[in-house]
Amino acid sequence: MTNTTHDLSHLSVLISGAGVAGPALALNLVRYGARVAAEMAPALREGGFAVDFRGHVHRKVLTEMGIWDEIHARQTHMGRQIVVDADGSPKVDLPAEMMSGDVEIFRGELARIMYERTRDRVDYVFGDSIATLTDTPHGVDVTFDNSEPRRFDLVIGADGLHSHTRGLVFGDESRHLRFFDHYVAGFDVPNHLGLNRAGRVYSEPGRAIALGNYGDDPDRAVALLVFRSERLSYDRQDIAAQKRILAERFAGMGWEGPNVLKALEAADDLYFDAIAQIHVDRLAQGRVALLGDAGYGATMGGMGTGVAIVGAYVLAGELALAGGDHRTAFAAYEARIRDFAKGCQKISGNAGPFFAPPTERRIRGRDRMYRLLASRSLAAFFKRLTEKAATNIKLPEYPV
Ligand SMILES: Cc1cc2nc3c(=O)[nH]c(=O)nc-3n(C[C@H](O)[C@H](O)[C@H](O)COP(=O)(O)OP(=O)(O)OC[C@H]3O[C@@H](n4cnc5c(N)ncnc54)[C@H](O)[C@@H]3O)c2cc1C
Repeated sequence: MTNTTHDLSHLSVLISGAGVAGPALALNLVRYGARVAAEMAPALREGGFAVDFRGHVHRKVLTEMGIWDEIHARQTHMGRQIVVDADGSPKVDLPAEMMSGDVEIFRGELARIMYERTRDRVDYVFGDSIATLTDTPHGVDVTFDNSEPRRFDLVIGADGLHSHTRGLVFGDESRHLRFFDHYVAGFDVPNHLGLNRAGRVYSEPGRAIALGNYGDDPDRAVALLVFRSERLSYDRQDIAAQKRILAERFAGMGWEGPNVLKALEAADDLYFDAIAQIHVDRLAQGRVALLGDAGYGATMGGMGTGVAIVGAYVLAGELALAGGDHRTAFAAYEARIRDFAKGCQKISGNAGPFFAPPTERRIRGRDRMYRLLASRSLAAFFKRLTEKAATNIKLPEYPV
């Protein structure tokens, strides 16, 4: 299959999952002419909190993908984050640079930007899922829940933390998912507090609510809920069940708790998942490879979106360099991305206890630490630490 022209127009690729990693790979692959199909949720999944990019690697990749300027134009301009007590009085004031990177955008807007730029050239099939995969020497034979069976040269699992593709090819989720004792939820709420490009965080032992207004709409805010928990068993498609879990866990919560729970009842954009990481032995098997959360999910604070974007860029670039030879390309992709992704995972494990310390004593300890971090030198140290992880990869010049 080797083709030294970097033209991938002979290559058909199925991307399972149109979250962030899927459309990012589609955007990179169509630059090389590959024929791409991406699929799943009933429509593009646009929910989610703001995601940030930091350092020269993210910037280079987003620039080469042609979306840096648009992201920059639509950035959230996140302001101060204030930790408050139950009556809303400020306890700790965090400078914006500590929580957000060089540029921050709503996850949903990022997904939409990439989707809009590829929808004419990519065959997005919503509301379907892979049923079976059979890897053969000449292609992967795929059957779907709804569509007709098709053969693809390559299949890329970009279907998130609970990747179905990973389950089919690499084994059960229990072997790959490390649970970090917390759950996170996000959804839109009315901006009761009149926040103006600013955020508030309130914690009680084992649970926390963060509210922020970062967009152009003064009436809307985003709520982020974090709670400590044993592993829960629930249907990921059953939004009503997830709302019930949240209502139970946040019952009696002070501060904005009652307003947030009321808004939850009406929310149509709920994101709810475990705080967890994905660790696999290898990222590719035969003609199937994993990308983004499916292969190296990092959870909150691990720059999962940045890693997914860099992963998509590297995977497409290596395929182009190898003229579509997946053995060479997948090996190079894995060699480049593995340590980078691991480095970002390393700095993310504390997000749960950071938001929702388990006891009052730990909350006070966290606040003391926040106060220290808010001092200038420590904010700079924190920024350097995250930027180091975000830039710890050497990118070759891929053909354009
Ligand atoms: C709606 C939503 C909101 C999110 N909000 C936040 C947030 O607030 N904070 C945060 O830290 N992270 C959030 N995330 C996760 C974050 O987007 C990812 O960690 C990161 O951007 C990496 O992206 P990804 O594309 O690998 O995974 P994801 O963004 O999770 O995308 C995976 C996609 O695969 C699709 N999919 C799932 N199963 C199948 C299947 N069987 N077949 C085909 N497709 C499938 C999903 O519908 C989804 O669109 C959110 C994810 C989603 C889907």
